[in-house]
Amino acid sequence: MPVFDYAPAPESRDIVALRPGYGLFVDGAFTEPADGGTFKTVNPATEEVLAEVAEAGPADVDRAVAAARRAFDGVWGRMRPAERAKYLFRIARVLQERAREFAVLESLDNGKPIRESRDVDVPLAAAHFFYYAGWADKLRWAGFGGDPRPLGVAGQVIPWNFPLLMAAWKLAPALAAGNTCVLKPAETTPLSALLLAEVLQQVDLPPGVVNIVTGAGGTGRALVAHGGLDKVAFTGSTEVGKQIQRTLAGTRTKLTLELGGKAANIVFDDAPLDQAVEGIVNGIFFNQGHVCCAGSRLLVQESVAEPLLERLKQRLATLRLGDPLDKNTDIGAVNSAAQLERITELAASGDAEGAVRWQPECPLPDRGWWFPPTLFTGVSQSHRIAREEIFGPVLSVLTFRTPDEAVVKANNTPYGLSAGVWSEKGSRILWTAQRLRAGVVWANTFNRFDPASPFGGYKESGFGREGGRHGLEAYLDA
Ligand code: NAD
Repeated sequence: MPVFDYAPAPESRDIVALRPGYGLFVDGAFTEPADGGTFKTVNPATEEVLAEVAEAGPADVDRAVAAARRAFDGVWGRMRPAERAKYLFRIARVLQERAREFAVLESLDNGKPIRESRDVDVPLAAAHFFYYAGWADKLRWAGFGGDPRPLGVAGQVIPWNFPLLMAAWKLAPALAAGNTCVLKPAETTPLSALLLAEVLQQVDLPPGVVNIVTGAGGTGRALVAHGGLDKVAFTGSTEVGKQIQRTLAGTRTKLTLELGGKAANIVFDDAPLDQAVEGIVNGIFFNQGHVCCAGSRLLVQESVAEPLLERLKQRLATLRLGDPLDKNTDIGAVNSAAQLERITELAASGDAEGAVRWQPECPLPDRGWWFPPTLFTGVSQSHRIAREEIFGPVLSVLTFRTPDEAVVKANNTPYGLSAGVWSEKGSRILWTAQRLRAGVVWANTFNRFDPASPFGGYKESGFGREGGRHGLEAYLDA
């Protein structure tokens, strides 16, 4: 194999003007938290402290919810839908104009490669605002009855793996439907949401329509348990999702949950193998595997397992791990020390339970949190690495002989978020897709997202859909 040497191609971080400290974004302005609490957000690739961020307590959450309620009862609630749409269009336009700034900031705070933040996270976030802007004045024709109404104030809690994109997934449909919002970003990645707050000021969004309260699980708990919400939307772990469901049981607050996954990526013997290899790599090594719908279980038909794994290993040996701001980087840093510990522990359980670990030669930087691309063969369905969500760059390989066996193994999981099918035959793809208990099934591709396409899970992957016309339903009293 030819060896390619890459010259460093670092993106400049000068485009981002980091402030030493950030307040909460409440009622259109940055404010100090009532008790003065703060936390640090860190660059996972260097462990450098990027900024000190305000930690919202119950009193701050209360202030944010009150501001959102005033905006809903006032200016936002009275605004004509076509006017509302203009704000969403403006947000989308400014996100595009400031795309490079957002991409660099996201990579600094999250650890993801700039190639991904630049080409996926930021453009898709803008696309969501564009898409939902178009719906704002057409809700009556969206199939939810003649006069669908917004729910009111939405509390939204998001994770750290796609910080800006998750904020866009939550805010865009909620605002298009006429709701106001209190958003709680994840504690390890608050910065892009706070830059988005600046964008909201830039487009003159009326105060209180969107409020952003930063903090950790305690802030999330205070928000979810606040009695003044009409709707809670949560994306995160299944464990926390269940807690939230318990908190809201018996209340009138509507709930949608986007939780974890353990997706099967099924490769049949007639699949185009080179294309499948690219799809497998994209399925599990995109965003360091910090993807709820990651194709973390490869199910490959026994007859092609050997050639497929050989090509896959060759391909993995070419992946470049390192500086997230380098445009050549394929695999960035793991988002936090805690996440690295979890990945390390689960991979060790794979060794202990008898699976065979393979990793390409892959030097890791001295500082920061890193995990090399990893493949486990000899995995059986009972192994923890086949059952539990690792949320890291670790692929578990299982084999099957018949389509029925593939479907049974794919569905043998408490989750049901996504799946992939690789085959040349359309009939086989449809047959398989119809039997997979997963909210999204990709055929001859993986990890494709579009604002027009609904996304969400079955079983312990949650309920409700985000994206598309379906994404509006969760924010309408229809
Ligand atoms: P997490 O559940 O620990 O945290 C998610 C968010 O919830 C964070 O903002 C956190 O501060 C907050 N939180 C924590 N405890 C809370 C509580 N008791 N009440 C309210 N909020 C609380 O998950 P994570 O580790 O940040 O994210 C990884 C998980 O998210 C994975 O399981 C992944 O599959 C899932 N995820 C799902 C989707 C999806 O669309 N289905 C998308 C991205 C991530």
